[in-house]
Parts: sequence; C-alpha cells; structure tokens
Amino acid sequence: MSSSYYADAMDIKTDLVKFMQDIIRIPSLSSEEGAVVERIREEMLKIGYDEVTVDPMGNVLGRIGSGPRIIAFDGHCDIVDVGDPDLWDRDPYSADIEDGILYGRGASDMKGGVASSVYAGALLKKRGIPDNVTFYATATVQEEDCDGLCWQYIINEGGLRPNLVVITEPTSLRIYRGHRGRMEIEVHTSGISCHGSAPERGDNAVYKMAGIIADIEKLNEQLPPRDPLGKGTVTISEIRSSSPSLCAVADGCTIHLDRRLTIDETEDTSVAEILALPSVKAANATVTVLDYEVPSYTGLSYPTRKYYPTWEIKEDEPPVLAAVAAYKRAFDKEAEVGHWTFSTNGVATAGMHHLPTIGFGPGHERFAHAPNEQTEVEHLVCATAFYAALVDEFAKS
Ligand SMILES: [Zn+2]
Repeated sequence: MSSSYYADAMDIKTDLVKFMQDIIRIPSLSSEEGAVVERIREEMLKIGYDEVTVDPMGNVLGRIGSGPRIIAFDGHCDIVDVGDPDLWDRDPYSADIEDGILYGRGASDMKGGVASSVYAGALLKKRGIPDNVTFYATATVQEEDCDGLCWQYIINEGGLRPNLVVITEPTSLRIYRGHRGRMEIEVHTSGISCHGSAPERGDNAVYKMAGIIADIEKLNEQLPPRDPLGKGTVTISEIRSSSPSLCAVADGCTIHLDRRLTIDETEDTSVAEILALPSVKAANATVTVLDYEVPSYTGLSYPTRKYYPTWEIKEDEPPVLAAVAAYKRAFDKEAEVGHWTFSTNGVATAGMHHLPTIGFGPGHERFAHAPNEQTEVEHLVCATAFYAALVDEFAKS
C-alpha cells in the first residue's frame, strides 16, 4: 500500500482519527443528531470545504468543486441505542483505541464512513479536484429509523441529483452493488366482543388471526431464492389484540410483518401475496403498508411509506468498474465485490430515484447494532484514500 492516495491519507490520519473519536463521543440517536451535525459542519469548515450547508431536515452537505459531474459520498450520522450496557466491555461512547481497533457505538455503523468521507475532502483540497467534478460529503439523519428518507428529501426538495452516489456504510473495504429492500406491513382482523363467560356469543379476532400466522410462516419458507441477493423473507415482529376487558372476547387483532424483498419483489407483489393467503380471505383481514412521519431533530416531518425498494447495479456497469479501478490505484491489488445483508440509504438513491449507486465503507456489517461495536483505524485511512482515488476515476468515466 504505497500509492500517493494512501500516503496522503496517512498524512491526515491524526486529524481523521481525532474527528472520528469526537463524533463517536457525541450520542446521536435518530431525530437527536443536532449536536453531531454541528460537530461535522465545524470539521468541514476547518478542512476548507467550498460550501457547507445544513438543510431544513438537518442533513449536512459539504461541497468541494463545481464541475458538471456530481459525486456524493453519503454516511448517516444517527446511531441505534446501546442496548444492554452489561454486554459492553467498555463505555459505548468511549471511542477508546486499543491495538489499532477503535471501539464505540457507531464505529462500524457508521461514523467511520462519515469521518472517512469528510476527510476525503481534505485529500481533494490537497491534491486538487478534477475540473469537471463536484464532490459532496453528506452526513444524513434518521437512517436507522427510516432508511432513504434523508435522500428522498435531498433529491426532491434540495434538487441534488448526483451522477454517482457512494454509500459509505460498512463493507469491510469491499465494493458493494446492492442489497435487499424491505417493507413494514400490518394485517388486521376484526371480531365481535362479548362477555368472556359466554364466548359463543362473540367472534374472536385472535382465533381468526391464528390461521394467518400459520400461513405467514409457510409463506416465508416458500419465497423463492433469487441471485445474487438471496431470498426475500417475511416474519411476524409483533402481535397485539384489543378487547373491552380481559374478561371479554377479543374484537381486534393486529400483526406487524417485517418483509425483506429480493429482486423482482415490490410493494404491490408483496401486498398481493398476503391478500391471496386463504386464511386472510377467510377472515376478511385488512392489509396495510405503514407510514413513517416522525419529525427530524429540526422539527421537520416528511411523511413516507415504509417501503424501501431493493436495488442492484450490475458488476459490469461503469460505476462498479470505476470503483474497481480506483481500488487498484489506491492499494495496488484487486477489489472484492459483494452486496449488503442490511438496508441503506441506497433504497432512495438507487431504489426510488435510479441514481447510479455503489457502496464502500470502513468497518464491518457484523458489528452493526451489536455490543462492543468496533472498527480498524486502518480502515478509516484506507477508505479515505479510496474515496479520493474514486473521485479521480469518476472524473474520467
Ligand atoms: Zn447504518
């Protein structure tokens, strides 16, 4: 690893790592990102970005250059909660470094991607950005609650349509080219309540749901595998019922479905498949795709359907080829290409808006949302070097 990109990234390593530690030490649950956004904005200004904007939703966008070809590196700056603190070997917000490993909530998912892409700007400032390129580093909000919402806003309301989006979620420094989508569905059955001492007078909504539950379990087993993203899945994540009292027959029952979508599975096909289940028809159950409308930390509400489409870019398309070439330039070895198991803001950039999108990030998917979350410090340096190399490849493509 002796390319000039890598050497330049090593030169800014101290500042990069300090910035990473600072943003890990600022807890930033979804809709509570204000303080970390301010810290990121400050760093972009210190590095000398040409323009730094916080949009009305609270996303921070740093720009360098003003060429016609736009490349945006996106990292969400919200994190999930700590979970059981007893499962952590150290303070989840310590940002301690030991033996080249940096620990803390957000280390892999995904403040490392944020830190590296912000510092890619420092490399561009030093090396010079190609005349035909505009570079953006975006630190976006609410991804953990509603993936892609921030980019729906940036595209629809901010009018930014990059020619290439790089999602900097953890890929173990591999080039990723898609992931399964997902959606959240509710199935509801209605009954008639009556006194629990004479249940035959009523119609129990929970019993009507029993057949549906069994059918959903079967449906999950029957969903077909699809290359290269694997099979879609469906599981019941919650069940609840209503009745006038605990001494009454239930008059309503609702299940919440977590549906993961693979290639060729959409909102319409997935709803149709549930409506076609014999038990759903027999119970006259209703099927609803849920909405998300939680306000951002700035108070802005931007309602959307909880449907996050699958996306995939082919291995021989120009963005993937440019990324493979950039990897070779940065590290003088061949890249590995793959895809994520989880979902990212790519659901909006690629899935909804069909903007060319790829993934590359420091850290590892397996540490996301897990105790003792961590990343290699070396990954931060490598990702920064790669992003700068990719800007140069992108300028040529
Ligand atoms: Zn993430």
